[in-house]
Amino acid sequence: MVTEPRRILFVEDEKTIREAVSAYLEREGYWVTSAADGQEALEQFAKHRFDLIVLDLMLPKVPGEQVCRVIRDASDVPIIMLTAKGELEDRVRGLELGADDYLVKPFSPRELVARVRALMRRAKVTEEPQRDRLVFGLLEIDVAGHKAFLDGRELDLTASEFKLLLTLSRYPGRVYSRMELVEKVLGYDFEGYERTIDSHVKNLRAKLDDDPKDPTFIYTVHGVGYRFEAPKTDDE
Ligand code: CA
Repeated sequence: MVTEPRRILFVEDEKTIREAVSAYLEREGYWVTSAADGQEALEQFAKHRFDLIVLDLMLPKVPGEQVCRVIRDASDVPIIMLTAKGELEDRVRGLELGADDYLVKPFSPRELVARVRALMRRAKVTEEPQRDRLVFGLLEIDVAGHKAFLDGRELDLTASEFKLLLTLSRYPGRVYSRMELVEKVLGYDFEGYERTIDSHVKNLRAKLDDDPKDPTFIYTVHGVGYRFEAPKTDDE
């Protein structure tokens, strides 16, 4: 089975480590985007979808701690935190911030790849399989029929609105940037069109009777884009 190479964001301010480890990961078959500081990391995160993030804790501009918090608030992407030797407090803090694993510097690239593989496997297991019919509380999506129903009533959606709804709901909890949604829903990638996604979301929300201030389905992720959540049921 041919699978798409997995995309990694590697955030590290030390140039020699950044270059050597990126090259190593690429040789292992991953697509690597590197960032040299916290600000660049957040910019990359807003622009692309990553399967995993390797994040140094001590970073210029925006500290790794804050980068981790922002990413974790927006997404479930696995995060491996890099910490300085012996700083136990840093490691504990990294995990409290929502990192999935940590690695103490200096580390061998081989060790990093082993951790990356383990986390990717874990993430893959929890991925939603492709299904013909998606049901989220009162919302039902007929994938093959390109139809959606709310409380049994068929929604009058445009082709773009349906595509948007399907894209978001395929992976509840995953955050999509506006740019990603433009690419997936509208099929072109001019930055000027990012805001057209906002109007599609606005129309879709109106049809779903979804209040942006108190959403049931579509959540705004500030500064990034949108995510879909399955509504909570009473017995949860
Ligand atoms: Ca550093």
